[in-house]
Amino acid sequence: MGQIVGIDLGTTNSVVGVVEAGRPIVIASSEGTRTTPSIVGFTKDKEIVIGDQARRQLVLNPKNTFYNLKRFIGCDWDELDESSISVPYNVKANEKGNVRVLSPFTGREYAPEELVSSIIRKLINDAETYLGDTVDSAVITVPAYFNESQRQATKDSAILAGIKVDRILNEPTAAALAYGFEKSSSNKVLVFDLGGGTFDVSLLKISNGVFDVKATCGDTQLGGNNFDSKIVDWIAEKFKKKYNIDLRRDRQALQRLTEAAEKAKCELSGLQKTKISLPFITTNNDGPLHIEEDFDRKIFESLCQDLLDRLLEPVQIAIDDSGWQAQDIDEVVLVGGSTRIPMVQQLVKTLVPNDPCQSVNPDEVVAIGAVIQSGIISGDLRDLLLNDITPLSLGLETIGGLMKVLIPRNTPIPVRQSDVFSTSESNQSSVVVQVRQGERPLASENKSLGKFRLSGIPPAPRGIPQVQVAFDIDANGLLEVSATDRTTGRKQSVTISGGSNLNEEEINSIISEAKLKASEDRKKRSVIDRKNNALTLIAQAEKRLRDASLEFGPYGAERQQRAVEIAIQDVEDFLDDDDPQELELSVSSLQEALFGLNRKFAAVKKVDNNPLQGIKNTFGSLKDELFSDDYWDDDPWDNEMNSNYRNKRYGNSRDDDPWDNDYFL
Ligand code: ADP
Ligand code: MG
Repeated sequence: MGQIVGIDLGTTNSVVGVVEAGRPIVIASSEGTRTTPSIVGFTKDKEIVIGDQARRQLVLNPKNTFYNLKRFIGCDWDELDESSISVPYNVKANEKGNVRVLSPFTGREYAPEELVSSIIRKLINDAETYLGDTVDSAVITVPAYFNESQRQATKDSAILAGIKVDRILNEPTAAALAYGFEKSSSNKVLVFDLGGGTFDVSLLKISNGVFDVKATCGDTQLGGNNFDSKIVDWIAEKFKKKYNIDLRRDRQALQRLTEAAEKAKCELSGLQKTKISLPFITTNNDGPLHIEEDFDRKIFESLCQDLLDRLLEPVQIAIDDSGWQAQDIDEVVLVGGSTRIPMVQQLVKTLVPNDPCQSVNPDEVVAIGAVIQSGIISGDLRDLLLNDITPLSLGLETIGGLMKVLIPRNTPIPVRQSDVFSTSESNQSSVVVQVRQGERPLASENKSLGKFRLSGIPPAPRGIPQVQVAFDIDANGLLEVSATDRTTGRKQSVTISGGSNLNEEEINSIISEAKLKASEDRKKRSVIDRKNNALTLIAQAEKRLRDASLEFGPYGAERQQRAVEIAIQDVEDFLDDDDPQELELSVSSLQEALFGLNRKFAAVKKVDNNPLQGIKNTFGSLKDELFSDDYWDDDPWDNEMNSNYRNKRYGNSRDDDPWDNDYFL
């Protein structure tokens, strides 16, 4: 029999998890993230893309990229409100009044259930890969206010994805389960869930494992997106004043603006201020225009006062409906990514005097609850005892001195985690397992708990031997580390008493040191990112110079070619400089110089009335590539600049990540 998983099928993001070694855990996606955007799209080749991949094509391919599908599920066309259907893709009613979504690329219409089923399928695939086993059923969560047909449609989606639904669970109930409230004799709990596009308040009475949703209220049109829009409007208005261009009328500019706004918003949950920069956002007669704005919490908060006001009423109504008083409420649970916004957290404190529970990640708490329910159904969690957690991350040192974490901080114990490592040199006959504890990316900066050697590995090329390293912490906090050579079966292990043999003071100081150093590490990392982007641009510029000398001869576009050469030189000069701003400036000058060179290409093309078919394909025109709507619609994929932008906005791909682990010992 296959396994059972728990799924939080969110409007914006979905999460899947499973019970492992008696504990609910979240399973990372094949892209390495713990949440998967609830987005489905089709590419020009009619290929389906889901999650992060689909999110990445939102800008370029909005008509074939579908998000917020949960708003349509189980609803008739007449039930939808104006704002649900104002999406950039095509939504319509079929002859029966059912909602259908259209993809121009595939030329088909889809029922929302069908698209949602592909999201579920992806989650299941990721879980199966992780587990090395099949998954045949799931517990899936839905909002407490979902009616019968919305619940049924959710079930249908799962059936379409090829799995059985063991239970449809209310999201607030799942959140309360995740906090283990079912075990206390009696509790009044308020769940405050602010997600990407919806706001739900639920009041639950829990007594001896019975969950009773007493009242729910909310606003189906209020969520993180509204906060993003406030930032978008703020920037767009400023821009309009300056250049008399409304960026919101340009689909692609708006999408880029929205993504930058969301990023800035998330950053402000941790930082006091940030920068919003969007080079080449549009163009006017003078050439390309850019956005560069400082943004801080104060401005953000002043923009969002009306949204905060809108959060108040549903809470008040739900409390009134339940017949309780605010001071009767025992626990407040914060759910949804948007409850990370500091002003939202402050607001909650003014509504209910108790400090909210925050020990479970708000993005994951619903999924964890679904997993617990799945564990209860499968019988895996009968004797769940939540006793203790690991106070600091445990891991081992890999080649290059990087820390590979096997058991992250705050993982409940007992727990077992393992991973496979290999040799870093050919014919290496032994590996050293150096166990460390701490939060820093560089292993040497974490505390060493001990080391041992596994020898007798048969000669083989580097990377071939497989050494399975397992960390096992029992209920008493004893850590056993073992390494097994999969070829010979040879095993070595050590027991380290007290995986938490640090006293509280030491723990606190390690955590605060890591926090302090985190920004330094982040800086190091962003320097590397910036450098990589600059290198990519240089490579492109060099290619274009070669193209130019082929096209125009060495002197045909001398001024523009020279400008690009000088700009390349500048970027190269600043590459190893520690000043990020100089590098950034030189990179934008190079972009502008390239822009000039490409205008030259475009101009030549115009003069030449018999344009060679190949020119556009071979050389492209940067101007076309960046600004022409047609171009994007035609062929959004063969675009070098564009992937460069993508990198900028989404960070570098994992492959470039200097902190990424090679898994070599
Ligand atoms: P849903 O339940 O709708 O699927 P989530 O709970 O995943 O949504 O929340 C998604 C929303 O949370 C998005 O609007 C996202 O921008 C926001 N969000 C995520 N992380 C943060 C953060 N650190 N600060 C502010 N907002 C955040
Ligand atoms: Mg949610």
